[in-house]
Amino acid sequence: MFEVQKIRADFPILNREVNGKPLIYFDNAATSQKPQQVIDAIVDYYQNYNANIHRGVHALSQEATDLFEAAREKVRTFFNIPQAKQVIFTAGNTHSINAVASGAHVFVKQGQDIIVSAVEHHSNIVPWQMLCERVGAHLKVIPVLDHGELDMDAYHNLLSENTAFVVVNHVSNALGVTNPVEEIIEAAHKVNALTLIDGAQSCGHMTLDMQALDADFYTMAAHKMCGPTGIGILYGKEELLNTLPPYQGGGEMIDQVSFEETTYAGLPHKFEAGTPNIAGGIALGAAIDYLNEIGMNHIAAYEHELLEYGTNRLKEIEGVTIYGDVSNKAAVISFNIAALHPYDLGTIVDKLGVAVRTGHHCAQPVMDRFQIPGTIRASFAFYNTKEEIDILVQALQRAVNMLA
Ligand SMILES: *Cc1c(COP(=O)(O)O)cnc(C)c1O
Repeated sequence: MFEVQKIRADFPILNREVNGKPLIYFDNAATSQKPQQVIDAIVDYYQNYNANIHRGVHALSQEATDLFEAAREKVRTFFNIPQAKQVIFTAGNTHSINAVASGAHVFVKQGQDIIVSAVEHHSNIVPWQMLCERVGAHLKVIPVLDHGELDMDAYHNLLSENTAFVVVNHVSNALGVTNPVEEIIEAAHKVNALTLIDGAQSCGHMTLDMQALDADFYTMAAHKMCGPTGIGILYGKEELLNTLPPYQGGGEMIDQVSFEETTYAGLPHKFEAGTPNIAGGIALGAAIDYLNEIGMNHIAAYEHELLEYGTNRLKEIEGVTIYGDVSNKAAVISFNIAALHPYDLGTIVDKLGVAVRTGHHCAQPVMDRFQIPGTIRASFAFYNTKEEIDILVQALQRAVNMLA
């Protein structure tokens, strides 16, 4: 059974106060909070297992290696990835995207198209622009409709034999809308284009099955799924990861090194140059154990309940506009109230202990599309409550009264 109060007790930060009020944390799309189990895993590693991995024959190094590789196996199972060597640990979601884009010249020829969507995070735009510049490819953009869904007719028209890559997010961090990635991937494959899905907002919020989804690459960030910062995941199809050149050179990623020629290690080590974030990987494993214990189906159902409740309550505020108010979305609500500046509203609700994000959310093209400077974004997690949403609405009402 899903008991939110029991779950909240696992998150020590939820006990603290901000500006004399109990913290209400609605900035989960920026980073999630961490349960004690994850914090303990970090401390446990440094207290009891700290050693470099894959290197020493000594016991400590073996133990650290076993824990790190066990975490890789947890990631494999959690996302139904065929083999553990297809789980590449990176420094974050942005790094995972860059790892692919920086070597993707082997997949993209001069004059070909790379299709992105109008609702991408900057980290899924800029690396592809850089690739386009390097190889002389063209960036094409799937437009977004007024209600926040991608214009799928336009997407199908953009696709052609000349399309090399299609890159979209699974869930938009700026709007919360879930994109029809199954349809996007299937259509891309029909014209032999590769696909990369940015899963920073989907991981930890819905059940993800890499084999069923059939994306060629998929990227994630541990810190958005109750894990620590500084560790990300790159999943890729085996033959594509074998073809993709490494994006960093150094120790760990080599087979043989001489000044005449260096050969690379096999997967996943080819993409893991240098000492990785060992504690981060192990703690990501603990985060996955934690999510599994609650159950992703329970998490998704409860977060959807919060989304519906929050949407209805926010609509009670006069002059509120919700961007991306569609049925198929994550528990992220992006909105404005009349002509009030999101920053002013965000500052006042922070004084009342409520943490929301204001601004362009690293997605300036989305704001330009809707002709707004930014939005207020309230993003919920499974440890939030309806009572907290009531306090947000109250705080917003007070802010409106002060600013009007
Ligand atoms: C957070 C986020 C990113 C960037 O991830 P980092 O953890 O900052 O590297 C990219 N895309 C989306 C959709 C995000 O929500």
